[in-house]
Parts: sequence; structure tokens; C-alpha cells
Amino acid sequence: MKSRTSRVLCLFLFVAAVSTAATASQITGPQVPRTVAESTDYDATSRYADVMAFIRQLQRLSPLVRVETLCASAEGRDVPLLVVGKPVPASPNALHSDPRIVVYIQANIHAGEVEGKEASLMLVRDIVLDPGAPYLDKIVLVVAPIFNADGNERISPENRSDQPGPKQGVGVRHNGQNLDLNRDSMKLESPELRGMVRNVLVRWDPLIAVDCHTTDGAYHEETVTWSWAVNPNGDLPLLEYQRQKMFPAVNAIMKDKYRTPGLGYGMFKDFRAPEKGWATFEPQPRYVTNYIGLRNRLSILDENYVHADFKTRVTGNYVFLKAVLDYAVLHSDEILRLTAEADRRAVSRGLAPKEADGFGIDFDLLALPDPITVHSYEMQIVERPGTWPEIKKTDRKKTWTVPYFADYRIKRSVRFPFAYLLPGTQADVAAKLLEHGITAERLEEPVRLEVQTFMPKDVKGADRLYQGHRMNTLRGDYTLETVDFPAGTIVVRTAQALGVLAAYLLEPESDDGLAVWNFFDRDIVPQWGRGYQAYPVRKLLQPANLATRTIKGD
Ligand SMILES: [Zn+2]
Repeated sequence: MKSRTSRVLCLFLFVAAVSTAATASQITGPQVPRTVAESTDYDATSRYADVMAFIRQLQRLSPLVRVETLCASAEGRDVPLLVVGKPVPASPNALHSDPRIVVYIQANIHAGEVEGKEASLMLVRDIVLDPGAPYLDKIVLVVAPIFNADGNERISPENRSDQPGPKQGVGVRHNGQNLDLNRDSMKLESPELRGMVRNVLVRWDPLIAVDCHTTDGAYHEETVTWSWAVNPNGDLPLLEYQRQKMFPAVNAIMKDKYRTPGLGYGMFKDFRAPEKGWATFEPQPRYVTNYIGLRNRLSILDENYVHADFKTRVTGNYVFLKAVLDYAVLHSDEILRLTAEADRRAVSRGLAPKEADGFGIDFDLLALPDPITVHSYEMQIVERPGTWPEIKKTDRKKTWTVPYFADYRIKRSVRFPFAYLLPGTQADVAAKLLEHGITAERLEEPVRLEVQTFMPKDVKGADRLYQGHRMNTLRGDYTLETVDFPAGTIVVRTAQALGVLAAYLLEPESDDGLAVWNFFDRDIVPQWGRGYQAYPVRKLLQPANLATRTIKGD
């Protein structure tokens, strides 16, 4: 019985290996797991138990899949992280002097946007069961198919009801703490994001990461839209590489190999006047894609087209992931070199920051040199007094070739320092930096230094709460002063691969720093009286030799 089954399986695998099918799996057989999307003819999506059963079934068929725990969710679910390799590495240490690169696929961060969950499971299955699949010679895949497991389990047809399928419903956007996980990369308040940073980014150091979503807006024919990390404080050569080389090359693979055109992510700046242009998403690193970009890694936002039917969306996501892997296989040596160079640039920048070396705190969004072509439709706008107008798609196709606003430029910047110094009592801030994988130290002896101090003159908390915070905007003046720092003072040098991330978290006027997320509220507002107190993080602009000891994480 057993041997007959495995002969049948071998035959299926052989058929799969010789077929040149570019899209959905040809691998079938009595034991080969199928996703809930496939087995219900795209009427339903997988629940947590379905995902875990699929993974276990796959492990019974292949030694190439290992399961780690990304985190325990707020509701106590073990969020699975698949490590897929040939051979599967026992730990990241096994990858030292291994030419394979790690690619991370994250799905279901918004659990109403479920295509990535189905597509990533299908992809892992098809790769490990197809001996002809080329990817694992060059790549170790790390996959979180159900990143927001708690949100996933709130499946209801009421969620995202404008989306055509799956009929049996999808989960919700937020996690078990009512947080939007794609706004949590800087403050790290969720177990999912803390788990991603620690157990994926720090542990496996993926050189490419893909975060899978579904669009909410515009009508167009393209079923896959996507973007690179757009924050201009990131390593610029890496940003330009993604924009100028990787983006067109992956789109070409999508079109030529998979007959699925890809489109730069965005929406019309003005839906009443599409000719004004197509604009990308916000630049802040609270978005996972931008956050990973700030860490000097290639980072991709995938947005599946909401108005396509569920099967089309899953298939589009599946071939997009394949196209990214096709590109990664062809360019793995180049990607290793470019990301290592970006890390080295970050360190040397922090060793001797120049006066002209700025950290951006305000940005302009400019159009790229080349326009973008969006295969859209003529729209009908129905005005609704007192609320947003309804935008209806007509059947009349209309192709727009318009400016693509996807080039953020730094409009206002502050000095990029040699180091930041914080009072030794700011242990919670130091712990947060360590959660990000940033190196922080403490002074071993007192030292007198000339530093730049920020004195707030205007601190505005937002009227409306957002993610449990009244997000701050700080404005003020920088002055140079000589300060005596006692032993125990926390020191964060920018000469580290994550130096820009440290600046993003610690700069007082940063648009997504810890000050924005209320970490310094009690420091800058005095107990009584008016006005403000100095921002507690001082900036050491010039290099100095300091006797310090590294703070150890837990
Ligand atoms: Zn989303």
C-alpha cells in the first residue's frame, strides 16, 4: 500500500518535473496537500488549523521543510515560520560561507488580505515536491504564511465585503491587540512584529523580503501591483538598484514568463483627473516594506488587485512570488554583494559623519523620469452629499500614461551624528533599540562632551488617537552645549549597519521616531510651569573615543 502510493507520487512528481507549466501546481496525488482555496474551488480561505495541517502533511512528504516559531500571538497561537532549503539549514550559522541567499515571504499581515497565505503555501509545496524546481540551489526560503493568525480566525463574509470572494469570508485587518501590524515596525508593540524582527530579520537576515497585501482603491486590469521600499533615508544605491534594475526586470519576467503584467503600486492622485498622475504609498518605516529597506535589504510590497476574483488574485500573487525568486536566482551573487556594500557604507558613514551629511525629516514626492501606464477604465463618479463620492467603474477601457509619483526626496534634514547619548535611566528606550537589533552601549566612566541639544518649542499631539497613541510632532531649536555625562549614560553609535534606523528612532523631529510614538512625553513636558524641557537624547556630532560597554539583550 505504502510503496504503491509512493510510486504514484513519484509518477506525479515526474510528470510535474517535465511539464513546463508556469503557473498553478501540476503536482497532485493522494497525499499532496492542497490549500483550502484550491480544495473549495476558491470559495474559502484557510484557517489556522488548515495551515498547520497543510504544513504537517508537507513535512511527511519532504525533508526540505522545517518549522520554527515566529512568535506566540496575543491570543496564544504559535505563528509558524517555515524554513525551506536543500538541505534545510539547521540554523543561520549553517549558512556561513554558504552561497545561498535567504528570501523572506510574509503573508496575511492584514488577515482580510489572504491571497499570500494560499499562494505562499502552494509555492512552498510546489518547490519542495518538484525535483526540477530551480530555486533551492541558490535560495533558502523563509516563509510566514499566516503572520496575523489571530486576525485570520475572525473569518466572516462581512469583512472586506466589496472584494469578490472568497465567498465564505476572510479575516480582519488588526491583530489580537487591535493593532495594525503594518504600522508597528518602529514601536514594536505587537508580538508579531517583535517576532519578525528577532526571529526573521535578525536571526535569518533575509536579503529580499516580500510583504503580501491586497489593494483597496483604483480600478485597473493589472492583477499584481508592487513597490520597492521608498524612504529616501535608506541606502540610496540600494534604492536605485531596486527601482531601476530589479523592478523592470521582475516586471519583464512577469510579462514574458507568466503572462501576468505587473504594475507599480499606487492610486490616482485625483480620481476626478487621472491625468495628474499615479502616486505610491507613504514613506514612513512603520510600514514593514520601508522598515526592511532602512535595514539595507531589498524589500518588496506586493498588493494584489482587490477587484479581481479570488482565484485570479491568488494566482497573481503566486506567479509574482515566483518571478521574484526567478530574479533572485539569477542575481544572487549581485544581491549578496550589494547588501554587504550597503552595510559597509552605513558603518563608514557613522565613523566620520560629514557636516553636509543629513538625516531627512520631511520629504517631497516627485515623479520618476519615466511615466507609468495604467490599464484602467472610464469612471463614473456618483456624488453623495455629506460623504465621499462613489466611484464606479464603467466597461469602457481607458489606458492612462501618466507621471508616476514614487520618488521621495529629502526636503528638510538635520545633522547626522556620530552618536546619540541618553540618560542611563532610559532603559526602556535602550531595550527598544535592542529589540530592533541595534547595538547600544553604556559609558564606563564620566565624560565631558560638546553635544547638540534639541529644545522643543512646540509639541503637538494628534487630536485623534491612532494605534493607541496621540502621535507627536515636535518642533524646536538645536543648540551646541558642553554636557557632563555620568558613567552609565546610554550611547548609540551610528557606525553600525542599522545606524540610519537608530537615527530614525532617536531623532526628535523624525517623522516615525520614538518621540512620535510618545516614548519621551514625560521627559519633554515639565511637572509644572509652561514651556518644555530639553529632549533627553543628545547628539554627538564629532567622532570621539569613548570608554563603553555593550548592553546585552535578553
Ligand atoms: Zn494590507
